[in-house]
Amino acid sequence: MGKGLSFAKRIYWPRIIGLGIGFFCVAAGLQPLQPAGWLWLLLVANGFLWPHLAYQLARLAKAPYQAERRNLLLDSLFGGFWAGAMQLNPLPSVTILSMMAMDNIAGGGLRFFFMGLLAQLAGVLLAMLLLGFAFTPLTTPLQVYACLPMLVIYPLAVGWVSFSLARRLAEHKQVLRAVSRTDSLSGLLNHGSWMDQLESEFQKCRQQQARASVVLIDIDCFKDINDRFGHVLGDMVITELSKVLTHSLRDSDIPGRYGGDEFCVILPGTTQGLAVEIMRRLRENFARLRYDLAPELTASLSIGVACYSPYQIDACAWLNEADRALYQAKSQGRDRVVALSPAPQPQ
Ligand code: GH3
Ligand code: MG
Repeated sequence: MGKGLSFAKRIYWPRIIGLGIGFFCVAAGLQPLQPAGWLWLLLVANGFLWPHLAYQLARLAKAPYQAERRNLLLDSLFGGFWAGAMQLNPLPSVTILSMMAMDNIAGGGLRFFFMGLLAQLAGVLLAMLLLGFAFTPLTTPLQVYACLPMLVIYPLAVGWVSFSLARRLAEHKQVLRAVSRTDSLSGLLNHGSWMDQLESEFQKCRQQQARASVVLIDIDCFKDINDRFGHVLGDMVITELSKVLTHSLRDSDIPGRYGGDEFCVILPGTTQGLAVEIMRRLRENFARLRYDLAPELTASLSIGVACYSPYQIDACAWLNEADRALYQAKSQGRDRVVALSPAPQPQ
């Protein structure tokens, strides 16, 4: 899709509605002045053909956004022209010019609003040069009624478009937020957002004297797996581990990718003994996995577990204990779960 085409699409229906009902507003203003036939033809073309032509011009343009801005300025030029042609009859003129000014400020900000004003002024002058300088200071009751649809329906249409846009933006914001929290390869929480979760779990344990365990998991000799089987297979091992993690944990557990071949889990409400048991099962499930692309490949995990203790001064101290346990698992020969004996509980 060309750059800015969505802008042109967004304006398409409001322009059809605005110019369609604006037609009646201007027609009522022109009618008592008995305008020439070509003026009526131009008004019909502007009201009912121009919205489609404008959209096609933007759609086919190399830069649809620029083309659509040009279209909006042409709208203003036409608007000014019709105000001039109605001899500046107050209500219909102000109605169409203010609606166009609203479009301009919504579509391009203050600068574009002023450009639109200039285009409207040019339109008024053009009409007066062609049709003569004259002023009709009174709006008839019929003209008032002819302006009502424009005054009521068009702002509703513009309001609806703004609301839909705001809702879409909010949805995009949510998606972006989720993407910024997620590790793209594993689909788990990334390092930063997992650390945020650890911090809030630590605070919860501290305030509510709750139990929880934190776990660090590292794939054994992962560098060798990459070297022997290639990085694509290495990536597959990471993806499989994340699947095993999501399947074997409870919904309340919080797995994440700490970085590289290292994963992390928070197990709320879980004692160290239970956490070790859960991790043993996870280690076995992972070791049983086989890979179609390399049937001879087996991978194992080293896992360090640490439970929350009131002696830990902060969340990092808690995580450090899991890291020390992981280090021990590695130095004791890998492929195992290790938990450091928990710090003594206060009396
Ligand atoms: P250990 O048993 O001591 O953990 O050894 P190891 O080889 O697993 O550990 P090391 O830290 O030496 O190597 C980890 C490797 O993981 C190095 C890095 O190239 C690789 N790696 C990190 N992120 C990715 C990734 O997203 N995909 C792949 N395929 N490899 C990765
Ligand atoms: Mg490793």
